[in-house]
Amino acid sequence: MTDVLDTESARAAARSAERGERHASPRVESSEPSPPPATGQPLTGSDLVEEAQTASVAEAAEDDARWQHTLAGPAVIEGRGLFYGDAVTCTIFPAPPDHGVVFERTDIPGAVQIPATIANVTPRSRRTTLKLGDVTIETVEHCLAALAGLSIDNALVRLNGPELPCGDGSALPYVEALRRAGIGRQDAQRRYCRITEPITVEEGDSLIAALPAERDDLQILYDLNYPDEPRIPRQLHAFRLEREAFVDEIAPARTFSLREEAQALWDRGLCHHLTPRDVLVIGENGPIDNAYRFANEPVRHKLLDVIGDIYLLGRPIQGRIVAYRSGHSLNHQLVYRLVEKMRAEQGLQANLQRQMDVRAIMKIMRHRYPMLMIDRVVEIHGDQRAIGIKNVTVNEPFFQGHYPGTPIMPGVMIVEAMAQLSGLLLSRVLEHRGKIAVLLSLDKVKLRRPVVPGDQLVIEAEAIRAQTRTANVKCRALVAGQLAAEAQIKFVMVDAEDEAN
Ligand SMILES: [Zn+2]
Repeated sequence: MTDVLDTESARAAARSAERGERHASPRVESSEPSPPPATGQPLTGSDLVEEAQTASVAEAAEDDARWQHTLAGPAVIEGRGLFYGDAVTCTIFPAPPDHGVVFERTDIPGAVQIPATIANVTPRSRRTTLKLGDVTIETVEHCLAALAGLSIDNALVRLNGPELPCGDGSALPYVEALRRAGIGRQDAQRRYCRITEPITVEEGDSLIAALPAERDDLQILYDLNYPDEPRIPRQLHAFRLEREAFVDEIAPARTFSLREEAQALWDRGLCHHLTPRDVLVIGENGPIDNAYRFANEPVRHKLLDVIGDIYLLGRPIQGRIVAYRSGHSLNHQLVYRLVEKMRAEQGLQANLQRQMDVRAIMKIMRHRYPMLMIDRVVEIHGDQRAIGIKNVTVNEPFFQGHYPGTPIMPGVMIVEAMAQLSGLLLSRVLEHRGKIAVLLSLDKVKLRRPVVPGDQLVIEAEAIRAQTRTANVKCRALVAGQLAAEAQIKFVMVDAEDEAN
């Protein structure tokens, strides 16, 4: 699923580049080394105005949707949990690319972290709860909905209690705090889950389905229908996920309960700190001591819960979700099914895109010992991302002189390995066009730690800007999971025949 998407977004980027649309990658054609997209910078009104000069706002939003986002600074939300009512402070911190959303209990020794993924969900009635070992974090769905609605991919949510603050029962307290903190684009592409075939889960009268759609965004249709419940007439609401629309139309919708449901909770000692003034309790004549924010506030809140729950997939969805009377447990089942499908497709892709051993590498690359710096390619995703291995042995010729007593791999050789893997990645598209990639510039080269005999270098190359004439590849080299070096490498595409002459 993801690989289908990765290929498609690469094609879209290529089409855009071929049309000469500078806005799609505004900095690439500069003769200066090209900087990455702004990291950790809040998006401001003037950013949008600048974009609008060269492109429509819709196109700018489309470009923005390609990148991961995090907060520009911490966001603080204080309050009491919905069910247990404990006072709690929740602080949401920025997090690096590919971190995802992770919750952390700071009131427990060792500060237990629980990633917000479906694998960590434990069954609870009327809410979404994460559990790892014997540590739980209750009622995460409205916080997750706020992060999903604002397109925040990476965040560390720290709280000093077992349950998130409920505020007014909507996602608004989270949205406001997150917007105050600011949202910034990160230097890594988003990976979407694209729905390619219908998946439906049903339970009794409830149903939720994920369906393919023509567009690259997420549309949700919710049908709230309790035929025997006159206090909440049937409500249908369709919503296309987009930041501003989420803030205005979905985030303010509050959780609700019928009078007798609320009474049952109070009788069990739950939600005792809340009165109908604080949350929506629906009686014979509508909300008790309260008023609806929207005529169809209940269905909008059900939609909000769906947005929060499906974010447990760990990546945004492109497709259409149709829900009929679906609650948290059915929403979770849909996410399980999507994860299963994603895994099956990834396994298939891995088999199709077999690993490359050194003989396969040498068919593509002209480098030979001692200058062939990649032993094996362990993963390759289209023309977007590759992971290669270089086993550093004491027999490497450079160790003879660098330095005999304390052998350290020269930094330039690590960079050479990165450049070779990048060239190999780019060659996957170029070979069909009769072109090859030639190294143009190195930027942001940082050597973080020495690499010595016995180390295994794991090199990652990710194409961050690929156009018809130039390409930028972001590279990292790790030893035992620790960053050893990084660089951004720019290539220019030349005709294979020209280069040979
Ligand atoms: Zn809810």
